[in-house]
Amino acid sequence: MTSLSAPLNVEFDYTRSLGPVLGRFITGLRDRRIEGIRGDDGRVHVPPVEYDPVTARKLTEWVEVAAAGTVRTWTWVSEPDEGQPLTRPFAWALIQLDGADTSMLHAVDVPSPDDIRTGMRVRVRWAADPVGSMHDIACFEPGEAVEAQAGQGEAVTMVTTPVRLAYTHSASAEETRYLDGLREGRLLGQRCPVCRKVYIPPRGACPTDGVPTVDEVELPDHGTVTTFCIVNVPFLGQRIAPPYVAAYVLLDGADIAFQHLILGCDASSVRMGMRVEAVWRPREEWQQSLANIDHFEPSGEPDAPFETYSQHL
Ligand SMILES: [Zn+2]
Repeated sequence: MTSLSAPLNVEFDYTRSLGPVLGRFITGLRDRRIEGIRGDDGRVHVPPVEYDPVTARKLTEWVEVAAAGTVRTWTWVSEPDEGQPLTRPFAWALIQLDGADTSMLHAVDVPSPDDIRTGMRVRVRWAADPVGSMHDIACFEPGEAVEAQAGQGEAVTMVTTPVRLAYTHSASAEETRYLDGLREGRLLGQRCPVCRKVYIPPRGACPTDGVPTVDEVELPDHGTVTTFCIVNVPFLGQRIAPPYVAAYVLLDGADIAFQHLILGCDASSVRMGMRVEAVWRPREEWQQSLANIDHFEPSGEPDAPFETYSQHL
């Protein structure tokens, strides 16, 4: 049997408010000005910190520093990843700007690792179209500071940071069996030979007994809601309009619940012990994925007694 593998991309846009200190720093970058903050020991921190790292006192004394500085250490990136400051090979460096006592991490645009060294002088290359982001410093390049055209505008208070993780997931032999089962509309778990617990998706080994789980068990597509939450908060990429319910469903015969959607009823009517059954997508859409089950919905059976699932919460 060949184990399955597939690309997996986890990504979302992280939007955060900056607060008074980072807000002022980022507003400065947008205006092509770099400001640090002085700590209680007199050192100037760039980027600024909100509280003194030693005394924890709130810091307020701003200090403008130069747009040029010295490479303190560096490493070479021969194959840049998507989303990094440069698409060609470059150096990540810790750069101590003139007037600062700490170093900041940024990219240095040089053709090869032979063209950068610790102690080298570098200057900011400003982004052509500043937007109020760390990327307003496009990168650093060899040389001394040059006069920059100052920008101006509203204070920057929010920043959106795309977070992205792309990797290839290789399924274990057990997970491959489970995924192949899903393609046929079957729910395959495994039973521990010692404690007899049934795990779905199968883990390959029992986490309690540490022995391989070799017995395959086919489970029905109905079960009991153990715990749940009502999602009221909208977020990017949401497929269903809130409010809706994400619940742990304990399939009959399983000893571990898994998470799925409960639809087909009012969110407010979902409860612990509610009996539910799977609603499968059309067979021609089935893949090696739990998404073949679009959601669970109430089956209409009487609620399961608490004792039947109390050990699975
Ligand atoms: Zn066990």
